[in-house]
Amino acid sequence: MKQIAVVTGAGRGVGRVTAITLAKNGWTVVMAGRDKAAIDAVAKEAGGESVGIVCDVSNPESVKSLFAEIKSKFGRVDLLFNNAGVVAPGVPLEDVKIEDWQNVINVNISGVFYCTQQAFALMKSQKPMGGRIINNGSISAHVPRPNSSAYTASKHAVTGLTKTASLDGRKFDIAVGQIDIGNANTDMAEQMRVGATQPDGSKLIEPTIDPQNVADAVLYMASLPLSANVPFITVMATKMPYTGRG
Ligand code: NAP
Repeated sequence: MKQIAVVTGAGRGVGRVTAITLAKNGWTVVMAGRDKAAIDAVAKEAGGESVGIVCDVSNPESVKSLFAEIKSKFGRVDLLFNNAGVVAPGVPLEDVKIEDWQNVINVNISGVFYCTQQAFALMKSQKPMGGRIINNGSISAHVPRPNSSAYTASKHAVTGLTKTASLDGRKFDIAVGQIDIGNANTDMAEQMRVGATQPDGSKLIEPTIDPQNVADAVLYMASLPLSANVPFITVMATKMPYTGRG
């Protein structure tokens, strides 16, 4: 039976590499994203029956229509990779613009919730029942960087949602896990390449990893039978500041 995956934010970065990796390993992948040209190009590169479907994860109606289209096209979904995410400008907590706070929360946690809710509804009703959800957390789901209040709060919230969804999903054979990335070389890691602000105010060019390292871990998690789960996995640059608090 064909295995159907949906990857949010599949147009670039970690989402793009992971979507292509899943497709090259037998999955039919729905590339979900805001930029139609970008997701269509990724779907073309992935080949097979993979398709791009426009979706803004921060909009619950857009997420509903994504899952309605998946249901009508494929009849089921076996894997949801909640990958879409944004950062806010790195400014002191007291200077964070309300619209920047709201954008990060809307995409990084409300978006994950909307997609999870729709995936639960489809996964519990399909035959065979069940599926897997993998949330893209972060090292920021564990520790903050300076001036990252919105992003850090949103990623800590993702951990809470992973835990609660993994408990609520059990009775429907829905396995829920989280991948916490540190410094994958994408647009989002621009600051690491030019010099990321450290807690003492200094700037440090930090090591990064190939996003393919992340995609390979997601592929491993996705390849398990639903009776097995990876609740949390961390994939990070070995020498980035974190271990030993530095
Ligand atoms: P990226 O290159 O900036 O890509 C972000 C992706 O999310 C883009 O495809 C973007 O699409 C999509 N997106 C943003 N808002 C969206 C929305 N409202 N609806 C749908 N898609 C939306 O960043 P990345 O590094 O690949 O990050 C992917 C995930 O990994 C994020 O959740 C991030 O927090 C997490 N992460 C990354 C790192 C890292 O080192 N790179 C570390 C920890 C965690 P558009 O093209 O439409 O903007």
